[in-house]
Amino acid sequence: MATYIVLLGPPGVGKGTQAKILSETKKLAHISSGDLFRENLKNQTELGKTAKSFMDKGELVPDDVTIAMIKDRLSRPDCATGAILDGFPRTPAQADALEAMLKEFKGSVSAVPFISAAENILIERASGRWTCKAQGHIYHEKFSPPKQAGVCDFDGSEIYQRDDDKVETVAKRIRVYLEQTMPLVDHYRKAGKLIEIDGSQSVEQVTKALFDALVQQT
Ligand code: AMP
Repeated sequence: MATYIVLLGPPGVGKGTQAKILSETKKLAHISSGDLFRENLKNQTELGKTAKSFMDKGELVPDDVTIAMIKDRLSRPDCATGAILDGFPRTPAQADALEAMLKEFKGSVSAVPFISAAENILIERASGRWTCKAQGHIYHEKFSPPKQAGVCDFDGSEIYQRDDDKVETVAKRIRVYLEQTMPLVDHYRKAGKLIEIDGSQSVEQVTKALFDALVQQT
């Protein structure tokens, strides 16, 4: 049976960092909806052009576009044993669509770690975040800078600040998250799949809490 893990949490809480660690350790594909949109943007596809105006404002890309993109990604062979979903679903309609597509693939959501932290921590983390251009490795100017300024430790590519990681846009993204994504916490709690993780801890502590909880759930 395939393992599908949905990571829930506000922008800046460290979902992307933990998703990368989980995906490498559990040997499951890492599917980040934000990374997929950014890749489309870089390649100037029609999808990228559609997504850009929403992303720049800190708003969600419409459900139909997002769902089609994820369905296409989940259909690829590297997802046959499951996936770590990072940033999707983000609305109740997306959660319903995910359930339907996993049913088609003869699977279901295995566990939903929900990583949370206070708003001041989220703003500090997201607005100090720098991302590697080649593979999306994540740094923080204060907490985890690269060895050489501006250069990724892993692949030597340039690191940059995402436009939507500027303070004003981060605050907007947190508001959007509270309105549109928070209902999913209740949804997955009722389904008995929610695992609550304190995201204010260090990266290592969050990873340990995640793995300890997942051993019991998956
Ligand atoms: P992220 O990298 O997850 O913070 O996502 C960056 C931006 O991509 C978000 O602010 C949205 O504009 C868009 N995005 C990512 N995932 C989704 C999603 N599941 N539904 C709608 N928009 C999304």
